Amino acid sequence: MLENINEKCAVVGIFGHKEASRLAYFSLHSLQHRGQEAAGISSSNGKKLQTIKKRGLVMRVFDEDKLNTLSGSSAIGHTRYSTAGDDSILDAQPVFARYDLGEMAIVHNGNLTNAEEVRNKLIANGAIFQTFMDTENLIHLIAKSEQKKLVDRIIDAVQRIEGAFSLVFLSRTKMFAMRDRHGFRPLSLGKLPNGGYIVASETCAFDLVGAIFIRDVKPGELLVFREGKEPKSIKVFEPTPKHCIFEYVYFARPDSSVFGQSVYQTRKNMGKELAHIAPIEADLVIPVPDGGVPSAIGYSQESGIPYEMGIMRNHYIGRTFIEPTQEMRDLKVKMKLSPMVDIIKGKKVIVIDDSIVRGTTSRRIIRMLKEAGAKEVHMRVSSPPTTDPCFYGVDTPDKENLIAANMSNEEICKYIEADSLAYLDEAALLKSVNANNEDKYCTACFTGNYII
Ligand code: AMP
Repeated sequence: MLENINEKCAVVGIFGHKEASRLAYFSLHSLQHRGQEAAGISSSNGKKLQTIKKRGLVMRVFDEDKLNTLSGSSAIGHTRYSTAGDDSILDAQPVFARYDLGEMAIVHNGNLTNAEEVRNKLIANGAIFQTFMDTENLIHLIAKSEQKKLVDRIIDAVQRIEGAFSLVFLSRTKMFAMRDRHGFRPLSLGKLPNGGYIVASETCAFDLVGAIFIRDVKPGELLVFREGKEPKSIKVFEPTPKHCIFEYVYFARPDSSVFGQSVYQTRKNMGKELAHIAPIEADLVIPVPDGGVPSAIGYSQESGIPYEMGIMRNHYIGRTFIEPTQEMRDLKVKMKLSPMVDIIKGKKVIVIDDSIVRGTTSRRIIRMLKEAGAKEVHMRVSSPPTTDPCFYGVDTPDKENLIAANMSNEEICKYIEADSLAYLDEAALLKSVNANNEDKYCTACFTGNYII
């Protein structure tokens, strides 16, 4: 069984700028929330590609010397998130290869649904794989394609894969950006202040480097970047949008605009809807930071119940390895989140989080708030119950570990030790993202309706 390790990642591409790798580096900083496991950049100086990738945060992977070696006016970058699976450096991106047309590097956000089938066929035909990444399939498909030009080989290759892919390819002289026909994962196009273009998973990367948002790369579209020319658009697939609604719920940064809408505003709408659907009298509304903040603001504004920062988050805790005993596990949560005792003591509080997945986080938080003296804790979740796993690039556990797939609301409420529990429903979620029905969005993690 292959591991799904192209999950929850970020991609960026810079074309036609003399500081390309630096701009890619800064962009990756603002996309760090999409993956903290590894980071990498490939650049091209027109003759040769250079790649640096390593485990760790963007800040730790690169320094001045490394960026200086990544010369040239085009660069692509990646931050990788991985589940507990293989965390070898081989699985960091960009994936680089030499082939008969020269050199190329690829970065990928998403998850291919036919990866195993494609890989097995390639292996049966003699291909040798170095990693567990879906993305390596693409290298082989491009290298083996009978087409003469790289652009045609890319078109050939993407027609053989299925699933979610926002991809950026770099060759010695060109850059290509491609989104699957459903546009599951975001990918936007922008113009750099001193000439050149940027593509990135989220527009928060544009703001940091002073780029102006042009538009989203369309579902099914391939953009070709060539020196001194406007990007050329090729419609590879008829678009049938199914944008990942979980980008709005949890994944994207609030200052980004994804699928044409502000993430912050949509998240706030979710909180407002939640206040209508699941009102309750309380003294305070408090968010689970950081994910629950915009929806808690929305809930508070709509209900008139004061918003307070009842839980502090320590931003400097990365992965902690102290797990073995229950006592140590509890300590681990407290290292990351601590209660503001003076604020919550003796109060009836509404706690807002963006989602409940396994239920362990909510349970620990509620216990912590009660120990800190909260009189009542009412849990409100600004998305519907997560009942089904994602095959298109969000890291959700198997169905047996999704609490809402296995317990009723009452049972979950009891398990997390809350005084009451309520979720947003699907209709209200769609209303929050200004959609009348689920046509344009993939809501499979809440409904089990998979398009592929
Ligand atoms: P749990 O219910 O303990 O599994 O975790 C729920 C918490 O994880 C919520 O606070 C969410 O903000 C956060 N969360 C939701 N989806 C993901 C994801 N794909 N990766 C990491 N954290 C997530």
